Amino acid sequence: MTTTTGEPEEGRLARDPLEEVARRLLVEIGEDPDRDGLKETPGRFARWWREFSQYDAGAADTRFPLHTQGQIVVVSDINVWSLCEHHLLPFSCALTIAYKPDGDVLGLSKFARIAHRHAHRLQVQERLIQDIAQELTAVTGSPDVAVIGQGEHLCMSMRGVRTPALVTSSVFKGIFEEYGPARQELIATAFPRR
Ligand code: ZN
Repeated sequence: MTTTTGEPEEGRLARDPLEEVARRLLVEIGEDPDRDGLKETPGRFARWWREFSQYDAGAADTRFPLHTQGQIVVVSDINVWSLCEHHLLPFSCALTIAYKPDGDVLGLSKFARIAHRHAHRLQVQERLIQDIAQELTAVTGSPDVAVIGQGEHLCMSMRGVRTPALVTSSVFKGIFEEYGPARQELIATAFPRR
């Protein structure tokens, strides 16, 4: 409860502003935020938004010396959830990330960390893919980087055209730019024949 000046009433603890947003939303869609079942919802809403926006994926720059030369590393089936910045609705994205190590290899868990870091913000799929490619180039020092994402967007399946569909976007850099052996190996991994 707030007064008309926006200050908390005396004797009452100020609510988290995000809880106020949730209460307002519930009222606007015709709900009673104080009814059973909804009482704790604004609190959960606030905690989730803080968790999403303050997510810490941890360090992603652990590198190991490389013993073999010329290999391509492809990590596939990394699944992340993000939020479409146009509709604030979730989209899931299955990622295939590849690079050609240049002296050192990146620890395998770091690919998922990089992916989650860029997914845990308001995004569009094309930028998510680009951001991941950019960080991968920065931490590996390799110019040969590729990221393919296949996303399912609730803003397409739950609203608008209401049709589930897979949206594919990709970034190919260095040796992956041309449709040569590196690109073909990557595509074969990302889209295995079923
Ligand atoms: Zn959207």
